[in-house]
Amino acid sequence: MNYAFPPAPVVTLDAMSSNPFPVRRIFCVGQNYPDHAREMGADPGADEPFFFMKSAGAILQNNAVLPYPPHTEDLQPEVELVVALHKGGRNIPAERVDYDYVFGYAVGLDMTRRDLQRAARAKGRPWDMAKAFDHSAPCTAITPEFYAGNISRGKIELKVNGEIRQSGDVGDMILKIPQMVSTLSNWVELFPGDLIFTGTPAGVAPVVRGDVIEATVAGLEPLIITIG
Ligand code: MN
Repeated sequence: MNYAFPPAPVVTLDAMSSNPFPVRRIFCVGQNYPDHAREMGADPGADEPFFFMKSAGAILQNNAVLPYPPHTEDLQPEVELVVALHKGGRNIPAERVDYDYVFGYAVGLDMTRRDLQRAARAKGRPWDMAKAFDHSAPCTAITPEFYAGNISRGKIELKVNGEIRQSGDVGDMILKIPQMVSTLSNWVELFPGDLIFTGTPAGVAPVVRGDVIEATVAGLEPLIITIG
């Protein structure tokens, strides 16, 4: 096939004992930890978690430098457990998600231009420019489920320059992974290669140039990103 210009290369993540994982789309869950929902001014009892997206091109590989993005003075990292799917579909039953659909897990950062997000929220406008900017989805290599097991609990933590900012447990997620994949597949058809950033615990705060971010989820490779 000839194109008008060369098509963009496929974005991949390394995966332990596997060929690289081709990333198709990135879905994110908003306000999926009660403590973070409260710090964002939501009521976790009444406001349900929701979905938004970033493009696959927003992936930044582990151990990279993230150039400080334009149009913000309040860049904030959110540590998140990432679920990688190797099977898609519509109306996926929750009880089939763990073994049939989940390829593995990674640690990601949902980088956020918080000042733009607050302004968009206040005006009822879309979040894309606050959430889906260049390099806004740093992510580790994927640990296949065969090695990681089904992750339903475990410590999730974010350190900046060695100091703990966010600390929680993935067991505190409101929408658990099986229900999350099932619910998302009711909204859109899912495909192999889709990633889901599953939400963040409380403690979000700005980073500045030169900061070193270390994001961890128990049992998975740590994510280390420097702000450039
Ligand atoms: Mn997030």
